[in-house]
Amino acid sequence: MDELFDTLAREDVHHLFVWSDKASGLQAVAVIDDVTLGPAAGGIRTQPYPSWEHAIADAARLARAMTLKCALAGLNAGGGKIIVAETPRLSREPAFTTLGRRIDDLGGLFRAGSDLGTGRRDLEAAGAQTEFVHTDLDATTDGVARGVVSALTATVEEKTGQASLEGIKIAVQGCGAVGESVARALAARGATLCIADVDRTRAEHLGDELSAIVLNAEDILTADVDVVSPCAVGRVITATRADNMRAWAICGGANNQLDGDDVAQRLQDRGVLYVPDIIASAGGVVDGIGRDVMGLDDRSALIDALGPLTREVLQQAQAEGTTTLAVARARALARLDQARRARG
Ligand code: NAD
Repeated sequence: MDELFDTLAREDVHHLFVWSDKASGLQAVAVIDDVTLGPAAGGIRTQPYPSWEHAIADAARLARAMTLKCALAGLNAGGGKIIVAETPRLSREPAFTTLGRRIDDLGGLFRAGSDLGTGRRDLEAAGAQTEFVHTDLDATTDGVARGVVSALTATVEEKTGQASLEGIKIAVQGCGAVGESVARALAARGATLCIADVDRTRAEHLGDELSAIVLNAEDILTADVDVVSPCAVGRVITATRADNMRAWAICGGANNQLDGDDVAQRLQDRGVLYVPDIIASAGGVVDGIGRDVMGLDDRSALIDALGPLTREVLQQAQAEGTTTLAVARARALARLDQARRARG
């Protein structure tokens, strides 16, 4: 018992659901971080974890980021995350079917969508059981890409005065659902791309199509480019990478890109403009929650607003001599405080 509650206290988790189904091998945890502004929005992440403590810790951090992301983007939603442990016993279709039923049991308190390692078929299996799983993966990843383009364009304009991405050299890490959409959107705006994926064949296919240079996965974040766009796994911007990075900006669709808060200060000290991922990657949840919870037929204006938000955060950090991460977090927490006070 103590071990579980120690983990929850350490990770500041207040609401934890644990779902298990022997027949399908489903082992999942869901963390709901905050519902002040509306139902918890968060993706379903499927990957192996060394222990349940690691899975809960990851869910907690990702759920908290979703709370801040939704608050910053002006959504009527809070934050959550679902983790499905990828194990040899996981039989995906029945497991995601069961997961869909468990999400349905929550009656709309949790609005789930896609995330790393969860594919189209998984979402469809879960979504067949409930209206509370957003199954339109293309709309989600297009939303992420639109948001990255808006945030990145604002960053380029802030740094260079150029109002377009024409000729800007960008390194995209990851060619999965998000990375592919982001790379396509950047290529369509005239950016010069380098791409990489640990699955080299995937990167080469996309590289051929977009005339992008394919680099080794271990070299992409330190490539000689203007901007690095992390669109794969989290915690990739380590202190060492921050020190060795040649790009002057970071703006990508991945969640939890920094290996720790101190990395934001290192980037700032080196003059690297870091667009916090709670802004840069928000386009997907804006699209999903904008449609499903806020009833907006057209979410493009709300996604495009991530551009001006990026500019304001970059300027405020510069003016106050603090990091963009600190500014973005403070703005999100201010909106949450205001909503809590209004609720009484
Ligand atoms: P995905 O599983 O479809 O693709 C991830 C890709 O990254 C895979 O091709 C994998 O081979 C590659 N990869 C893994 N480690 C790598 C590394 N070190 N270097 C290069 N490539 C690597 O996942 P996704 O849905 O595209 O999610 C990617 C990121 O975007 C995650 O951080 C996720 O949380 C975030 N995100 C996803 C969504 C969504 O709706 N899918 C929305 C917002 C943010």
